[in-house]
Amino acid sequence: MEWGDKQKAPRSLVSGGAGFVGSHLVDKLLAQGHIVTAIDNLSTGRKENLTEAKKRGPAFRFIEGDITCPADLPRESFDFIWHLASPASPPDYRDLSLETMAVNSEGTRHLLNLALQEKATFLLASTSEVYGDPLVHPQEETYWGHVNPIGERACYDESKRFAEALTMEYRRRFGLDCRIVRIFNTYGPRMRYNDGRVVSNFITQALQKDPLTVYGDGKQSRSFQYIDDLIEGLCSTMYSSYCKPINLGNPEEYTILELAREILSLTGSKSKLVFKPLPADDPKQRKPVIDRAKKVLQWKPTVPLQLGLQRTIEAFRNYNPLQPK
Ligand code: NAD
Ligand code: UDP
Repeated sequence: MEWGDKQKAPRSLVSGGAGFVGSHLVDKLLAQGHIVTAIDNLSTGRKENLTEAKKRGPAFRFIEGDITCPADLPRESFDFIWHLASPASPPDYRDLSLETMAVNSEGTRHLLNLALQEKATFLLASTSEVYGDPLVHPQEETYWGHVNPIGERACYDESKRFAEALTMEYRRRFGLDCRIVRIFNTYGPRMRYNDGRVVSNFITQALQKDPLTVYGDGKQSRSFQYIDDLIEGLCSTMYSSYCKPINLGNPEEYTILELAREILSLTGSKSKLVFKPLPADDPKQRKPVIDRAKKVLQWKPTVPLQLGLQRTIEAFRNYNPLQPK
C-alpha cells in the first residue's frame, strides 16, 4: 500500500528496528510514505542497519531504548505498531535468555498497552518455534506444537507462545486490533555475520575458507525464506483485517547438508564440512503450510533459495567481518 501526498501519512512504531528484519521493514515503510519511529536497545541489532533510513530526514526517528522499560517508550501517537524486538538466533537467545523472556512478556505487554491507548493496529512477530520440535509435518497454524517447556530453547519458544497468548487476550478483553505472524527461518543481507544462524555461519565460513560446521548429521531440515518475501508478507498481514496467526515462510524444504552444498557451490569455496554435536532440542524438521497466507493475503514467496543466497553472499562479501557488531 502506498500513501500519496493527499492522505495523512501513517505513523509506525517498529520495535527491534535496528535488527535484521526490523531494519528492512523500516526501509519499506519509509518507501511507502510512513513516518517511522524505530526503538531498539542494540542488544543484537546494529545502528549501521539504519544508515538508509537516517537519510530520510524527519520521516525517521531512532530511539535507543529498551521496550521492557516504560520510560523508554515514545510518547507519540501511532497507527501501526510492529513488534519485532527479541533476540532470534539460538546462540543469542541462549546468551540473553532472561532478556528474551522479558522482551517477549513485559515488552510485549507495554507495546500492547500503547497500541490500545493509541488505537493502533498491533503486529506481533512470532515464530515457527512455537511449533517446537513438531510431530506434525508440515506445520499448519492449527497445530499446537511440541515444545519442551524447560529446555534450552524454552526461553524463546515459550516466551513467544506467551506473547501470542497475551496478544489474543488483549483482543478478547479489550477488542485490540491485532495481527500475529509466525515467521519461518529468514535470511538475507544485514544478518550479523556472527549471529550463529546456519545461513550466516555457512556463508562466513565458506568465504573465509574455514570448514562449514554441520550440527548433528545434517539431515535435519529447514525451509528458508528470503527477507524481501517476509517484508511483503508482514505488510500484507498488517494491512489485512485478519487477527489469527498466519505462517510466513517459504515451503521449499532443504536438509542442512543440502544447504551447505548449495553455499559451497555458489561461493566456489573448497571448504570442507566438519560435524559438531547437535544442540539440545534442535527441531528435526520444519516446513510451513502457507495456504492461509495465500488465501487471506494473496501472498506467497517469490525468491528461490539460489537467488536469495546469491544476494546474501554478495552482501557478506562487501561487509568487513572485523567490524564490531
Ligand atoms: P535481530 O536480533 O536481528 O533483531 C531483533 C532486534 O530486537 C535487535 O535489533 C535487538 O537489538 C532488538 N531488541 C532485543 N531486545 C530488545 C528490547 N528489550 N528493547 C528494544 N529492542 C530490543 O533478529 P531478527 O532476525 O531481525 O528477528 C526479528 C523478529 O522476528 C524477532 O521477534 C524474531 O523472534 C522474529 N523471527 C525472526 C526469524 C528469522 O529467521 N529471522 C524467524 C522467526 C521469528
Ligand atoms: N546449524 C548447523 N550449523 C551451524 C548453525 C546451525 O548445522 O553452524 C543447524 C542447526 O542445528 C539447525 C539448523 O542448522 O538444525 C538451523 O539453525 P538456525 O540456528 O539457523 O535456526 P533454527 O534452529 O532456529 O531453525
